[in-house]
Amino acid sequence: MALPLLGELWDELPVEKRIFCSVLLFSWAVYLWEAFLARRQRKVYRTTTHVPWELGQIMDSETFEKSRLYQLDKSTFSFWSGLYSELEGTLILLCGGIPFLWNVSGQISGRAGFEPEYEIAQSLVFLLLATLFSAVTGLPWSLYNTFVIEEKHGFNQQTLGFFFKDAIKKFIVTQCILLPVTSLLLYIIKIGGDYFFIYAWLFTLVVSLVLVTIYADYIAPLFDKFIPLPEGELKQAIEMMAKSIDFPLTKVYVVEGSKRSSHSNAYFYGFFKNKRIVLFDTLLEDYSALNKEHPEGEDGEDDDTKSKVKNKKQGCKNEEVLAVLGHELGHWKLGHTIKNIVISQMNSFLCFFLFAVLIGQKELFAAFGFYETQPTLIGLMIIFQFIFSPYNEVLSFCLTVLSRRFEFQADAFAKELGKAKDLYSALIKLNKDNLGFPVSDWIFSMWHYSHPPLLERLQALKDAKQD
Ligand SMILES: [Zn+2]
Repeated sequence: MALPLLGELWDELPVEKRIFCSVLLFSWAVYLWEAFLARRQRKVYRTTTHVPWELGQIMDSETFEKSRLYQLDKSTFSFWSGLYSELEGTLILLCGGIPFLWNVSGQISGRAGFEPEYEIAQSLVFLLLATLFSAVTGLPWSLYNTFVIEEKHGFNQQTLGFFFKDAIKKFIVTQCILLPVTSLLLYIIKIGGDYFFIYAWLFTLVVSLVLVTIYADYIAPLFDKFIPLPEGELKQAIEMMAKSIDFPLTKVYVVEGSKRSSHSNAYFYGFFKNKRIVLFDTLLEDYSALNKEHPEGEDGEDDDTKSKVKNKKQGCKNEEVLAVLGHELGHWKLGHTIKNIVISQMNSFLCFFLFAVLIGQKELFAAFGFYETQPTLIGLMIIFQFIFSPYNEVLSFCLTVLSRRFEFQADAFAKELGKAKDLYSALIKLNKDNLGFPVSDWIFSMWHYSHPPLLERLQALKDAKQD
């Protein structure tokens, strides 16, 4: 009896209420699904207390236990922060937080002398307030994550002063980009006529290309120190490898990631003939500031005494760094970078097209409390964030699956360069340095992991080694 009754009630609801309820229900469905997966994964952390036999050669029991506790803490943290943000989002929707903030923004921009017809001014105030709100509510979580969890497990290298300076800088830089880009986008949509979605898409395409171009030279250095990799064996070897696969390398940088945390990484960037490689100092055994603080541990022989100092020696040997780079350059050589750009631009075009189809529907605005006005910025928010959310979930899952395929292919590429053995040991070291936990629930990893689980990658490399 209950279900048909619900069905009748549903049919009687006005369409805008139905839209609103569907959005809310879908958001909770995704939340519950992910909470269910996280619970399964936490069970793995709780119950896998001994190194499984197939991992015996890869991880010692001390590191295994450390990573288990680290991942368990992270998972508990993300349970609470996830619950908080789901509740916050729901409350904002139920209490009409969006139209409220829109009206407040109108009053502020009105007081600043802008008439109500200056929708762009009101939109910018709205954006500023909304990002300020989320920065402020996110702050306690990020503080706790950095200074309690990362600190407890030995990763945090930041001071409170650095953290706040960094957060303020990040907020200001984001506004400097977000506000002008949004106002231009809103303007283009306003004057673009019937085919505005093509211009809007072209505009965002140009903006993203410009951002990619200037990011590394003008934005990233505001936050971190980049120094050219000093001349030497490693630099020569990198240049040789780049040359052997026609990678148009112009510069190799080391970034002082160790100022923030001891997690390690490497990446490349740049367009066409002007590519650069960036290595985290934490990746490089010989350059890591973390290793330099303890000169007595530098000779690499007495492993027992080193494990007792706070920052034990980490990072990879030169051959291993080269193997990691071989993998990264594999992403370039195999066209993964281009493929990702093409997919994301096709998706962005599709979204703008659907946006153009939907923006005239007044019910969509009414669903979120906008009965009289239909501001473009609010339309973008409603359609891209709420209406597209089922599509976004499916897309993000497909991209995760694709990313795992790309990772295997890049590993295989490194193997073709003759780096299977070094990549094998580098992966083990990086997993250890970053306290990755090598056991995972299969649905959890299928849904979330952009990289295949460590064991599968090692197995693939091993198979490759035997060929
Ligand atoms: Zn990769």
